[in-house]
Parts: sequence; structure tokens; C-alpha cells
Amino acid sequence: MRLELAERLRCPGAHTPTPLIVVAQETRARVLHRAIVGCAVCGLEARIAAGALTFPTGLRLTGAGAEGAADAATLDRLAALLHLDAPGGAILLTGGYARYAAALEAAHDVHVVVLDPSRDDGREARSIPFTDASFRAAAVDAWPAWLLDDLTRVVTPGGRIVAPAGTEPPVGARLLARDDQEWVAASEGGSGGMVELKRLKGGR
Ligand SMILES: [Zn+2]
Repeated sequence: MRLELAERLRCPGAHTPTPLIVVAQETRARVLHRAIVGCAVCGLEARIAAGALTFPTGLRLTGAGAEGAADAATLDRLAALLHLDAPGGAILLTGGYARYAAALEAAHDVHVVVLDPSRDDGREARSIPFTDASFRAAAVDAWPAWLLDDLTRVVTPGGRIVAPAGTEPPVGARLLARDDQEWVAASEGGSGGMVELKRLKGGR
């Protein structure tokens, strides 16, 4: 995990938003390879090993791996939907979109975080383990529902959210376009108060 992203980690536990404490054990070229991660509020302990962070619930965060070559047309479409017109920043991918992580990182000079909820025990509501506005865009599968609902908080206002057709944009995201494959929406920020203000100003 990139150091600048590790600094934005937030405890996913159901309590007051609290940054995670990260004790680095092995860092190479601004990437954390091994670290101990902890929460001062709930006592959560987790480890970063081989660059991947696994939470006690089974939720996992990784960087771009050694995914196979992605089909160029699909990759271009996804980059356009995510509005990756300039380099820099970080994007969040889950599920089927994770296969494009390495190609997007290489072609668009962005940092990619892959969130894998497939082994999460699902015993309680979760939040995405990052502070507000950590990502410029996100492309996620429909499952689990809490992930989609928490996206407008972690994607910067105006940032794109892409998800497969058959789901609906979460509250706080404005639909920009949809076809039979996917929809794309713009985050309006995760704070209800701010969304309300914007609605008043925009007359919507
Ligand atoms: Zn905690």
C-alpha cells in the first residue's frame, strides 16, 4: 500500500470515525510492504503483509497486482467513465473491475486500491476503511450494499462512481449516464448537510 494512502486509513468499526495507527516495518519506494495497523478506540489489530492489508473481519485491501493484459477497448471505456483525464490521485476498484487495476495504474499514472469484500464475515455494517474524499473515482460491483452506500463519502465531490447496470446510484451521487452494462454518477460528497446546501444553491 502506498504511504500516502496508508495515512488515510480509517477504522471500519462501528464507532466515531477514527484514523488507524500504522506502524511501518518494511517500506520500499514509498510503498508499505509490512506494517502493523491498529485502532485506539475499538482495539482492532490488523497487518499489512506483502503489501496487502487484511482486517480481522476478512475485508482485504491490496494494490494493483499482476493482472493479465486487459482488453484495450474496455480499458479505454472504463478510463473515460472514471474521467481519468489527468495523472495523479487514487482510485478504488472492487470485484470484476479489479482486473483492470494494473493496466489503469500503468496507463493513467494513478494509484489503485483494490477492496476485496469476498471474505468479509458480514456480521455487522461496515464502512470503507478510508477517510473522506480519499479517492478521485471508484468502480465497484453491486455487492455488498454498504460499500455502494459509503462511496460518496470516500470519493471527492465531483468524482466519478461507476457500477454495473441493475443497481442504482447511492444517495449523494448524481446519475450522469447509463447503458445496458453500467451507470456512471458524480459524487456530491458524503455529508448530508453539504448535499442539502448544494441542492438549495443549484435549485434541484
Ligand atoms: Zn476501531
